[in-house]
Order: sequence, then structure tokens, then C-alpha cells
Amino acid sequence: MVKINSYLKRYLIVLFIASIYFIATILIGYFLPKKGIEDALTILIEVLLFVGMGCFITIFIYFQNKKDFAENLQLREKISKILDEKVDKIDTTTDFTIDIAKKIRKLNLDNQKLNYVINSMSQGLILLDHKSNISIINKACLEIFPQGKIGQTIYSIINYPNILQEIKTAHQRIVNSTLEEEINNRNYKISITSIDVGHSSKYPLYWVGLFFSDISLTKELANVKRDFFANASHELKSPLTSIIGYSQMLKEGFLSSQKEKDEAIEAILNKANKMSTIVKQMLSLSKYEFKNNINDIEAIDLNQLCQNIVNELQLEIKNKNIQVEINKDTFAINMNKDDASSLVKNLVENAIKYNKLNGKISIEIDSNNQILTIEDTGIGISKDNLNRIFERFYQVDGSKSNQESGIGLGLAIVKHIIESYNFEIKVTSKLAQGTKFTISFKN
Ligand code: ADP
Repeated sequence: MVKINSYLKRYLIVLFIASIYFIATILIGYFLPKKGIEDALTILIEVLLFVGMGCFITIFIYFQNKKDFAENLQLREKISKILDEKVDKIDTTTDFTIDIAKKIRKLNLDNQKLNYVINSMSQGLILLDHKSNISIINKACLEIFPQGKIGQTIYSIINYPNILQEIKTAHQRIVNSTLEEEINNRNYKISITSIDVGHSSKYPLYWVGLFFSDISLTKELANVKRDFFANASHELKSPLTSIIGYSQMLKEGFLSSQKEKDEAIEAILNKANKMSTIVKQMLSLSKYEFKNNINDIEAIDLNQLCQNIVNELQLEIKNKNIQVEINKDTFAINMNKDDASSLVKNLVENAIKYNKLNGKISIEIDSNNQILTIEDTGIGISKDNLNRIFERFYQVDGSKSNQESGIGLGLAIVKHIIESYNFEIKVTSKLAQGTKFTISFKN
């Protein structure tokens, strides 16, 4: 607006002076005598007036342009000062500069806010211009592609064919797609979106936005869940099949003698008990996996707890004729009663299950060091398997066929209890000689 007004004013002035000139020449032509020398004088005066007017207009325009140039220069300096964020120091005397200063300051602020938001996103973000050069790359994305730089082509940092193909398509037409890719051992869901930024002479121009979400944990949990269901159904299937088989034989009258019938009923009962143990262990594991806080902590006498558990397992101990020794020492452990019982029982049960006939179990309590050791003279565990026995559903080959064995959840439960109380567990073993579990209750 300011510019149009100043030009209009300038042309009005020129028009005004030109009008005066024409009026003056008409008047001079009219009043001056029109003969001989006088005519020549009239023409001379008109020529002089004309030349004078020309000079005046040229000088006038020259000075006006000079003034414009100086003003533009000043304005440019002011704008660059504002861009340098020295907006408070400049002399904002005219409405125009105040307006520009405000707008640029707002732009700077908006830019800062945008940068802040983009860089605090947990999602990785890359914005590509129409030539696939990086226009924006945020902090989260630099963690995935540390070599990424603004201005660099995307082809120099990404070489996953699926992603590159999708980027190519997104440059050609509107696309909003997602794909999954493993990058540096992590799983990412990548959303690729075209951004319409207008047209070049012939074609539409599409920039491309890429969003990287780390889905490793979700994927891991989905795998755990899938494995858990697969293992649980597998473990439940075999006793269930036996129960159905024996029940059908009884129903169809295939078992004639009382002895056969009694054996079938006994087998059904055993399999049902096994299923009940499996379900109890699964429930127990899920309780420990999802439990965040520990309730009802009490001081429990460790020696008394071990005696109680050994008494509970007397039948299994007698069946294998195992000799159990518990030393006299004791100390109090601060735990929830069920957790403490589950911890010791799982270890003693294993020491019985994987022991030889006529074997031995030594339970030692060391009150000075707050340590409990449970040592057996059983089959032992190989070095390779030692690292894996605390995993869910992990069973050493051979244990699976063992009638007494569970489903590989006992030690997973033990591990969860130990971790929730910040205790420590160690295991050493020698094949065919025995295994020793050591728990330190110091935390
Ligand atoms: P399970 O229900 O099969 O006993 P656990 O989680 O308690 O499952 O143990 C996992 C595996 O570790 C067992 O299958 C067994 O092979 C091995 N194991 C555990 N305790 C002992 C032990 N005291 N002696 C030998 N092997 C053991």
C-alpha cells in the first residue's frame, strides 16, 4: 500500500508540472507578438521551457529513486537485523518495520516451537523434498540413522528396497502407506505419506514424510504371548488326550477286568492332577509377571519354612528313598509367605524330581551371610542348559519325558520372585553328579 501511494503521488506531481508547462506555452504563444524576431523568441522560450522541464523531471525522478534506494537499503538492513534476532535493538519507528519485526519475530518463535516439538517426538521423522533430499530430520531419527544430514539424499542413508520403492511411489502420487522393517536389530513400523506442495511447469510436486515408530517391544510381547499360548496348549493337550482316551475305553466297555478299570481311573486321576499343576503354575507365573507391588510382608523363619516344605513333600521323598539334611542355623527372611514358600518349594521339588533313587539333598542355611543353598546328588545340568533353565517353558532334553517333570515354569517363577525382592540366585552343576542352587537374601 505504501509503495503504490508514493508512486501515485510522484506521477501526480509530474502530471501537475506538465500541465503547468502546457498552459504556460499556450499562454506565451497567445500573448507574445507573432512576427519576425518575436516569433523566434517565442520558439526559443518554448524550447527553453521544454528543456528546463525535461531537466527538472529527470532530476526529480533521479532524487526520488535515490531516496527509494536508500530507504530500501535501510529496510533491508533492518530486516536482516530482525532475522538475526536483534529485533529488540532496531529502531522500529515506522508502522511498516514494526509490522515486519512482529511477523518475523513470530516466525522465529513458531520455528523454535516447531523444532522443539519435532525434536521431542519419540517417533523418528524425515521430510523429503521433491528430489528426495532431506529437508527435516529429527533427533529420534538421527538415533536410527546417525549419518543423516539435511540436504543429503535419502538414498545415501536408507538402502531398504521396500522403503525406497514406497518413497518413489509417494513422489509420483498421493500415498499413505505403512510397512514394517527391521533396522539395526530393532523393529520399526514406517508410515510414508505424500505431501502435495503444488505444481512444477508440468507435474504435481510431492514431498514425502516418513515416520518411524519402534515396535520392538510390542512385537516381543506378541511373540511371548504367542509362545506362551502355544506352549501352554501343547502341555495341556497330552494329559487331556490321555484322559479322553481312558474315559472312552471305560465308556465303551473295552476294559473288562476290575484291575484294568482301576488302572484307567488311576491314570485319569494322574493326568488330571498334572493338568491341575500346569494350570496352577501358569496362574502363579502370570501373577508374578504382572505383580508390581509385594503385599503382606512378614518375618519368616527360614529353617522352619524349609522343614515345612520337606514335610509336605514326604511322599515324593520316600518314593525315591532320598535322604534330606537341613542344618540347624536359621535367620528371618522378610517376604510374603506364599512367595517364600513358592521359592523354596520349587527348588526342593526339583532337587527330588531330578535326583537319583537313594540320592541325597542338603539344605544349608548360613545366617552370617544370609544365604540358603539347596544341593542334590541328581542328574545335573550341562553348561549349555544352565544358562537357559530360568526361561519360561524351558526343559532340558530328557526332562520332558520324565513322568514327574512339570512344564518348565518352576524356575521361571523362582526367577520372578528373586527379582521382585532384589535377591540373588546362582546355580552350579555337574552332569551325573548333582546341582547346587544358592540364594542370597541380602538386598
Ligand atoms: P520343570 O517343571 O520341568 O521342572 P523347571 O523350570 O523347574 O521346570 O526347571 C527347568 C528345567 O531345568 C527342568 O526341566 C530340568 O531339566 C532342569 N532342572 C531344574 N532343576 C534341576 C535340578 N535340581 N537338577 C537337574 N536339572 C534340573
